[in-house]
Amino acid sequence: MEPDNVADATVLPISSAAHLLGISVQTLRMYEREGLIIPHKRQSGQRAYSLKDVDRLRCIRKAVNEERVGIEGVRRVLALIPCWAIVGCPQEERVACRAYTEASAPCWTFKHESNICATRDCRACDVYKSLGDCASIKSRLRDLLSVSSLTPEAGRGPSRRV
Ligand code: SF4
Repeated sequence: MEPDNVADATVLPISSAAHLLGISVQTLRMYEREGLIIPHKRQSGQRAYSLKDVDRLRCIRKAVNEERVGIEGVRRVLALIPCWAIVGCPQEERVACRAYTEASAPCWTFKHESNICATRDCRACDVYKSLGDCASIKSRLRDLLSVSSLTPEAGRGPSRRV
């Protein structure tokens, strides 16, 4: 396994990442449009991918091709990640945040102009990073379910619980 700093280095242009995965550049762009991946953007505007990004994309490909989950299904699984518990979003901000009240898309696809996420870099965020491969999603959710802020009493929201 690569050390983290090597795996995190954004060294691959979009064509190389697509080649590694055996998919087209258009498919990779579609995953970005659908909110499944946040590529690094160079100053020139070109996308760059790390080996961790490639692992994340492999997980998505597996879900789509072998487990027949579909893009919409993957997006909805990512939408269930309790981001508010991971970043420590205060209760008053939760109830006004679409990432908390809706279950249609991951938190990083919404605009966050006036809450705790307004100035955060989603690509560097623990929510996005730590749930990047198939195995980590389940184990992270298991850990989070034991956090008291997710109990109905402490995390009471309008419509969404994990
Ligand atoms: S910073 Fe981005 S990825 Fe992290 S919780 Fe906020 S919206 Fe989600």
